[in-house]
Amino acid sequence: MRVVIVGAGPTGLLAANLLGQAGIETVLLERNLDLTDHPRAITIDDEGLRICQAIGLAEEVSEHALLKRAAHYVSRGRYLVKIAPTQQPYGYPQISTFHQPTFEAILLKGLQRFSCVQVRFGCHVKTLAYDDHGVILQLEKHSGNIEELHGEYVLACDGGRSGMRQHLEIPLHPTRFWHLLDPYSHQSRRSIRSERTQRWLVVDTVDDMPTLSSIIFFCNPARPAVTVPAPAGGRRWEFMLKPGEPEEDLLSDEAITHCIQQALHTLPANERPTSSSLANKTIRKTMYTFHSTIAERFAAGRRVFLLGDAAHQMPPFGGQGMNSGLRDASNLCWKLQLVIQSTAAPRILDSYQQERLPHVIQMILFSSVLGGLIMPTHPLLAGARDLVLNSIHRIPPLRRQLTDMEVKPQPHYRSGFQISGGGPWTGKLLPQPHILLRDGQRQLYDHVSGNTFSIVRLSNNPAHDFEPFMRGIWRQLAVHCIALRSTSFAPGQIAASERISEIIDESGQLAAILQHRHDLFLLARPDHHCMGIFPITKLPHVEQALAAILS
Ligand SMILES: Cc1cc2nc3c(=O)[nH]c(=O)nc-3n(C[C@H](O)[C@H](O)[C@H](O)COP(=O)(O)OP(=O)(O)OC[C@H]3O[C@@H](n4cnc5c(N)ncnc54)[C@H](O)[C@@H]3O)c2cc1C
Repeated sequence: MRVVIVGAGPTGLLAANLLGQAGIETVLLERNLDLTDHPRAITIDDEGLRICQAIGLAEEVSEHALLKRAAHYVSRGRYLVKIAPTQQPYGYPQISTFHQPTFEAILLKGLQRFSCVQVRFGCHVKTLAYDDHGVILQLEKHSGNIEELHGEYVLACDGGRSGMRQHLEIPLHPTRFWHLLDPYSHQSRRSIRSERTQRWLVVDTVDDMPTLSSIIFFCNPARPAVTVPAPAGGRRWEFMLKPGEPEEDLLSDEAITHCIQQALHTLPANERPTSSSLANKTIRKTMYTFHSTIAERFAAGRRVFLLGDAAHQMPPFGGQGMNSGLRDASNLCWKLQLVIQSTAAPRILDSYQQERLPHVIQMILFSSVLGGLIMPTHPLLAGARDLVLNSIHRIPPLRRQLTDMEVKPQPHYRSGFQISGGGPWTGKLLPQPHILLRDGQRQLYDHVSGNTFSIVRLSNNPAHDFEPFMRGIWRQLAVHCIALRSTSFAPGQIAASERISEIIDESGQLAAILQHRHDLFLLARPDHHCMGIFPITKLPHVEQALAAILS
């Protein structure tokens, strides 16, 4: 087997779709007999939906989501912060809510498109060992039989308690703010035992408060809480347990109803919905302990890779745990494809950890800060928080940063699979505008650029301007060429090659990235991160640098 994926959670299912789409022989092993029916993640972000677009499933996922939600922080009858992003830089709403089991079912069904992908439920991977050609996994089947399976590469997507991570003896470390300065300082000997955890009760209910259409963080020192509207008439409630508080005290319907009333009391008086009893409305209630931890390494020997919760765990307040796992798979799978198809040397796989680890640390800390805003239980601390947030709210540029979610860590890889000297866009995720095609169709940009390397240029003469990209390394990589027209298509002309697409970007974003200069070209990776922008005179340098990265 070329690739073995351990664990059919969202990360493993996405990785299987990406590899299946690339035609790579893959097996997905799941210890349970079916997908889990426990919803945990409830929000999906714009990057997550864009990744679903890459496997052709964004529309179906969107149909089952509540798109474009706002998130409000409320305290003592007043809104502290209203996050309501209006922009869709990556083509999708920045905050949407969804039902995780439905999402996973869509990903699983998506795998039926790929004959190269096998899905095997009831297969519990017990051990792994290396040989000269890859990894030997021992798995216990539901029948109790033991089987050995060989894989050239293993993607451990087996969740927070990852047996694969433990087997590889890769320690988990707590995340601290100084890791922003040095992402690898988490590899110091600080033990996981020093991690600060938080206990929360998570309750999924039938929604009887449709007026609460936003996500609300109740900054109530008596009981910090969160509510999230869910698709198909559902609603999530989350309540923080106080230190030492027995879990049983909170689990009865009466206790939960009281917590809900307490939370609603934090809203402005004229917006409080009347809450009735919870009887017959609770679908599920579970205690969770939220962690902020990261694996010391995301890979072992260029053969085994940790993805998703197996590599990192974060509190859910930024809605980034699952989304980070989706980014992991989206980052790694095209690199694996290049290596398996002998287009690149295994060395490029090192860039997976190099790119993902610092970004995940930012996301963990971002989630912790958001959690820190609602969790103060001391009245003085809560008062200070309100004062600071109210002051920020009065300063328009700062307020805009919060409202438009500009405070969220941007998808920007500062080092890794990129070419030096490519300017400030290097490593950043490209925006995804709606673009206009010659036949009058309007589409999202990625539908045209595809999931391959691409070159973008301002061009009124694509056959001439892209001629150098029709040969050599560009041909070998099947690079797709995007000719950005300024205002209209030249009548009667057709593209000189099926590897060239002509588009008009009325938003002007792509032209602005190219500084409106016809002598520049942008090189993008299959995951739509920019590898650099260069003058065409530097083409030989870029070709050499790209060849060096791949070799
Ligand atoms: C209350 C709560 C709310 C959350 N809200 C959000 C949110 O809004 N947005 C967000 O992005 N994230 C959120 N998260 C985080 C999100 O749920 C997780 O990050 C995500 O589910 C992790 O996906 P995964 O595929 O990496 O791991 P998992 O979903 O844990 O899947 C791992 C799979 O591996 C299988 N497995 C394990 N060991 C083996 C083995 N040895 N052999 C075979 N199979 C194995 C397991 O059975 C499981 O199916 C939330 C989490 C919680 C708890």
